[in-house]
Amino acid sequence: MKEREVCCLNQLQAYVEHRLSPPEQRLIESHLASCASCREQLESMQVLEEWVVRKYKTLQPTEIPDPGADVLFAQLEKENAQTQENFFQRWWKGVGWVVVASSLVLALVFFYTPFFRNMMSRESGSQEFLAKGWRAQMLYGRRIGSKTYSRAKVAEGKTILSPFDTIQFSYTLSNTYFLAILGINQQGRSFSILLCKPNVGCLRKPGAGTYPENRSLILDEYIGEERYFVVVARTNFSWKTLKQAVEKEWKAKRRRLQHLDTIPGPWLSRSWWVEKKRRR
Ligand SMILES: [Zn+2]
Repeated sequence: MKEREVCCLNQLQAYVEHRLSPPEQRLIESHLASCASCREQLESMQVLEEWVVRKYKTLQPTEIPDPGADVLFAQLEKENAQTQENFFQRWWKGVGWVVVASSLVLALVFFYTPFFRNMMSRESGSQEFLAKGWRAQMLYGRRIGSKTYSRAKVAEGKTILSPFDTIQFSYTLSNTYFLAILGINQQGRSFSILLCKPNVGCLRKPGAGTYPENRSLILDEYIGEERYFVVVARTNFSWKTLKQAVEKEWKAKRRRLQHLDTIPGPWLSRSWWVEKKRRR
């Protein structure tokens, strides 16, 4: 296998996922015996794979109604419009007609001053992300019976969930982006949720999408706080870089997931803070 970059990686991935036929499996095993770089690659893949499996061992269709990214996007648009409307209504009432003319000039200055723009975007998280060409949401459904789930809700602030509740990520991109989803728990241990190889960003075209598609992830039995991140970047990145960056930021934020809202680095990120409690 000379074309290691393409051929070997795909084959290794298939091998890790037990998708190879027995002859193909034997072929790769004999190659592994003689190729140190593939063995190394395989090792890192297996570690990654193990995490995914341990974390979300039961990825399966659920009955959680999925509002879908389009509906969500429309809903967000409406929320944004309302935020803006409220802002202008307040402004209008407070200022009155007399000073409108001079205020228009001020308003222009106001909106074109980076400082104020930042202030505005901090008021509404979703606006900030729209301005950067993407946005993401996390949906969750509570398990209310052995096979029934509550209606999907959009996570805001801290979300209290329990093992076997479900989550789904939804995103809208105005550019082509590499996208990855990961998490970190309160012990500072990071884990992957969605990664694509050979690097880890999954190439996504402009438009709306969800992960998983038409399904949701069933949460594992971990009890404690977690934070889930959706990360997008114009160029791809490695799992190692991402993992190191999130763990470093966790330490910088005094190991508090509450304050760990973004991961500094050559990407944009959005996150959701979750506390997993035992079901009562
Ligand atoms: Zn090799």
